[in-house]
Amino acid sequence: MDIVLLGPPGAGKGTQAQRLSAKLGIPQIATGDVLRAAVRDGTPRGLEAKAYMDRGDLVPDEVILAIMKEALASDGARKGSILDGVVRTLPQAEGLARVLKELGRKVDAVLFFNVAEGELVKRLGGRTVCEKCQTPYTGKEAGSVCEKCGGTLVRRKDDEPEAIRNRLAVYGKQTAPVLDWYRKAGVNVRTIDAVGSQDAVTARALEAIGK
Ligand code: AMP
Repeated sequence: MDIVLLGPPGAGKGTQAQRLSAKLGIPQIATGDVLRAAVRDGTPRGLEAKAYMDRGDLVPDEVILAIMKEALASDGARKGSILDGVVRTLPQAEGLARVLKELGRKVDAVLFFNVAEGELVKRLGGRTVCEKCQTPYTGKEAGSVCEKCGGTLVRRKDDEPEAIRNRLAVYGKQTAPVLDWYRKAGVNVRTIDAVGSQDAVTARALEAIGK
């Protein structure tokens, strides 16, 4: 089963992708995580992506399509994937459909994580993430210890106010139309109320995909 998670930055896609991945036994594919690792490792891909990411702009589609292809064709993803923040433009949605088709698969469901903008700004402004396993936290200071892996929590550079504003604008302009594209393509698109406890949101997501 291949499931696309869509929604604005701060909607909780990463947290829910980890939980759904554990429940369904299929890997989370997160282009943001792959790109941050590339930036940390100083690879050519990371060097290309860094300036876009720091500003909160989207990285070029070719880079994302290459990551998408590698990740979906990997052994671990043979039974499916949770695509977290992987599809953010129409060319990416089309590219994903092509890559999956070559593998004899398709997007089985799109889960749209719905959160009001004021809440998003609050969440992103108070967010830290583990620099090792990428688990996000709200209400924990930078420098605290990750409950999952013992790594150190840091603030993301793109969670500064200026970049947050830009990411929300970019989402509205480039990513929101992807939802309609999926609806028109006849894909099962489900809106998830993404406000509430992590357990409640996971339960809603599982129900939406009939699990
Ligand atoms: P995320 O961790 O999903 O919020 O992604 C962090 C940043 O990585 C984004 O603001 C973009 O600069 C870049 N990025 C991640 N995924 C994509 C994508 N599918 N398309 C374009 N840029 C992306």
